[in-house]
This record gives sequence, C-alpha cells and structure tokens, in this order.
Amino acid sequence: RFKSTTLSELSAQKVKVNKSNALKPLVPAKDLVFGKTFTDHMITAEWEEGQGWKSPEIRPFENFKILPSAVVFHYALTCFEGLKAYKGKDGKIRLFRPDMNMKRMNNSVSRIALPSFNGDELIKLIGDYLKIDERWIPSERGYSLYLRPTCMGTQETLGVNPSSRALLFVIGCPVGPYYKTGFAAVSLKATTEFVRAWPRGTGSSKIGANYASGILPQQLAAKEGYQQNLWLFGDEHELTEVGTMNLFILMKNEKGEKELVTPPLDGSILPGVTRDSIIELAKEWESETGIKVVEKKMTMPQLRDAIKKDRIVEMFGAGTACIVSPIKCINYEGEDLQIPLDPSNPEEQAGPFTKRVNKTILDIQYGEVEHPWSVVV
Ligand code: PMP
Repeated sequence: RFKSTTLSELSAQKVKVNKSNALKPLVPAKDLVFGKTFTDHMITAEWEEGQGWKSPEIRPFENFKILPSAVVFHYALTCFEGLKAYKGKDGKIRLFRPDMNMKRMNNSVSRIALPSFNGDELIKLIGDYLKIDERWIPSERGYSLYLRPTCMGTQETLGVNPSSRALLFVIGCPVGPYYKTGFAAVSLKATTEFVRAWPRGTGSSKIGANYASGILPQQLAAKEGYQQNLWLFGDEHELTEVGTMNLFILMKNEKGEKELVTPPLDGSILPGVTRDSIIELAKEWESETGIKVVEKKMTMPQLRDAIKKDRIVEMFGAGTACIVSPIKCINYEGEDLQIPLDPSNPEEQAGPFTKRVNKTILDIQYGEVEHPWSVVV
C-alpha cells in the first residue's frame, strides 16, 4: 500500500554514451541498398515492470544477447517505426514530423501491451545519436538516413502474457533515392485470396505480425510479375492499402469534379505520416486546383468501373520510403486494368499531381523551404 508507484520515465538527460572504437568505412552512395548497411552506433533503452525505463544508451551497433525463451521470438511482441533524417544544403539535419512517428509508436506498443514512453525524449535521443553518427547521413537530395525505432518484449518466458521486460532500440541505415532514374510506375495485384487487416484488428498499428503475414502474398504477386499487393477487404473488395503504402486516387466523380480519394482511417489502415501530409497539402491547394480531398471507402468493382469510364486521372501509393509511387496497372480477377500516368506525355512515369506532391514534400524535408513539419535536430 505504501509502495512507491513512481516509475522512471525514458529520459534523454540520463543517456550514457559509449562510442565505438572501430568505426566502419562508409559505403559509397551509389552502392547503398535499402536496409543493408547500418551506422556505427545505436540507441537502446530497457524497461522493466515496476521500475520503468532505465538509462538509455548510445553504444556501438552490435549483437544483442537475448535468450531463446524471450517472448518476442514466440509471440511476435514487437513493433517498429520508420522515419528518415535528411541533410540539407545548409548542412543541417532534419526530421520530418517525428512527433507523428512517436505518437504512432506509442499506439503500437500499447496495442501489444508493451510500455509507452515519452516521444519527445526519444526524439532528443535520436538527435544525439544523429550527431554522433553524422558522417553516415548522406547529403545529396533524395539520400537520407533511414531510422528504425523498434520496441520488443524480452521477458524470458513462454507464457502468453504481457511482457514484464522490454527493449527499445533505434538503428539507422543510409539509403539512396527510391527512384534513381526518375519515377518508375508499379503494377499491382489486387489480392483477393489474403487479407492484410480487418476492422478491430491490428492494421492501424505498426506491429511486426502485420508484416509477417504479408510476405507470402507479396512473393506470389511478384511471381506473376506484380510489384505490390493491392490489399482489399471484405466481400465487396474494399480498397485499403498498397504494399506498405497508403493509397491515393485522383479521379473525376460522376459529376465530373476532381477528387483526391483515399480510404478512411477505420482502424484497419495504417495512419501514414505521408498520407496525412498529402491530405493537408491537397486541402491547401484546393482553391487553386479545384481538387477536393475525400476520405471514403471505395470498392475494387467501383474502381474498375471508373477506370473503364476514363475517370481515373492519377493513382499512387504514399509512404516514407518513396514519398509517392505511381501506379500504372492493377490486375483484378484475371484482368489487367491500365491506369493513366500522364496523358499529356506518354514518356512520363508520373502525372503532374503526383510529381507536385513529391517535390513539395522533398523541398520541406531538405529544408529548401521553411516549414513547421521539418524539425532541425
Ligand atoms: N501503410 C503501411 C502498412 C506501412 O507499413 C507504411 C509505412 N510506415 C505506410 C502505410 C506509410 O506510412 P508512412 O507515410 O508513415 O511511412
């Protein structure tokens, strides 16, 4: 009854820094492959039930010592984030709306009963880490350091229970531009045999388990020559997401008005930072473009009908990795439906709206325009 209930919070002030004395050679920008090369250091922080967060550390990137009985290896008690650090021409390091990643990660940890943490403190720790590993942040536009915060349950038990211990870590890998030679539009397989997420499931959290179940469908789609799955839900074949991206359709409605349609956040869609940013930008542009943003459900048969009636203007996936990924074809029920890219120029792999979104966000990320979304560390 008199036991103290004050648990220790994650605190950047308490960080212990242990620098590596064997720095790795940098990988030339042209040889960068997504997710293969990591910087010299990482952030780690342990949590224990009844105690809270221990002092975080910035220490050499190395193996973890975790027993095979740890819950993460059995019940997928793990969740993660993905954001990037950008270095602008001014030499400053910026993060793009990192508060949204922190909020989403806290939502993910709570969904799998892992401990929450103060997101501002983790952003400060990321800032410290970025300064230590600064030489790994590429400086050309399109290049960045991809950051992967992860939190997992590490209690050594086979009991299916909330984990009494957790490990939070952040690792970083330098990445090149998603499109090395301009945009490359993708073909999708509208997947009817597998479901990514469902209402009241876990689709709106970024938990590892959501991704494990998507790998086989992706492999099968790739065998047929489609780069991504177009994830559908329910008997009506509602459009949800594309691969690991949110979906946007620029189209003309039945009255001929232009709308930017994206599926609503109904609990089964991952609330993308890029998605939110595109919605806000498109709303700002509305008075000039006449394009209205509409978050609404749309089914694959409705999309097929709109494609056949030439009502689709542009279609793209959106996410941190690529910002936008133009879509040129969807295979649905055995039929390849062709999506227009840029009607004014058959050579182009993306339409003007898709390109404008991409350029606007890049300019903000690299500090070429001042914007509150860009946070200097
Ligand atoms: N949907 C899924 C399933 C994802 O994994 C991601 C990548 N985090 C996204 C959408 C896009 O989110 P963001 O714009 O935050 O990268």
